[in-house]
Amino acid sequence: MVKQNIVIGHLYPRQMNVYGDMGNVIALRYRLEMRGYSVTYIPLDSLKTLTENNIDILVGGGGQDSNQNLIQEDLQKYAAELKAQCDDGLVCLMVCGMYQLFGNKFILSDGSELTGASIIDLETRAGTERLIGNVVIDTTYGRIVGFENHSGRTYLGSGVQSLGKVIKGAGNNGETHEEGAIVNNVFGTYMHGPVLTKNPVFADELISRVLNRASTVAVLLDPLDDFIELSAATQAIRRPR
Ligand code: GLN
Repeated sequence: MVKQNIVIGHLYPRQMNVYGDMGNVIALRYRLEMRGYSVTYIPLDSLKTLTENNIDILVGGGGQDSNQNLIQEDLQKYAAELKAQCDDGLVCLMVCGMYQLFGNKFILSDGSELTGASIIDLETRAGTERLIGNVVIDTTYGRIVGFENHSGRTYLGSGVQSLGKVIKGAGNNGETHEEGAIVNNVFGTYMHGPVLTKNPVFADELISRVLNRASTVAVLLDPLDDFIELSAATQAIRRPR
């Protein structure tokens, strides 16, 4: 049986949602509905209701250090439950601030620490300069373009797979030429933009993982006309930082 209704959970949409990150939800909904699936959108102000809502894909965005601080308590309180779901294959897309908080910790410029959910083995330290501009990476899903704006420098634990190799921009830290991270079905990235609207192949990778996890038979995605999306990506790739 193929699951027909897909539940998108949006984590901390009021505090963690900058530079168009909400567009990731819109892109997922659009690409699912165009293929005949229905979508239920559930904003999650707390992880308390994660399990009862039977989320198929969890999306989280970026936010200022102060907003990351606001949600830290809730994240820590329910981190074990969230980790159990991620270990079970829950599909997640975490952007920038939430990507950092899916890691072990974020050390701020004043030396204080934000504790993460430790779902991805990584650590982030605030840098003195912000890393801002378009970022282009090569991944298994092709070339991806997004917009980064972060002070944090993220370092992956040994054995953690990055999302891609940096062609232009800073990515995780401006040094290792890596961008993002993948663990199981959890994807972390610094790419705003929103990343899924300009990168339909990446969006479909997430959707394919969602549908195949939720269904008892293998699901293949019908192709969509991605002319506008790919034109937007081409323009963004050409732009200087
Ligand atoms: N506050 C974090 C940083 O500056 C995340 C920023 C963001 O989400 N855009 O590194």
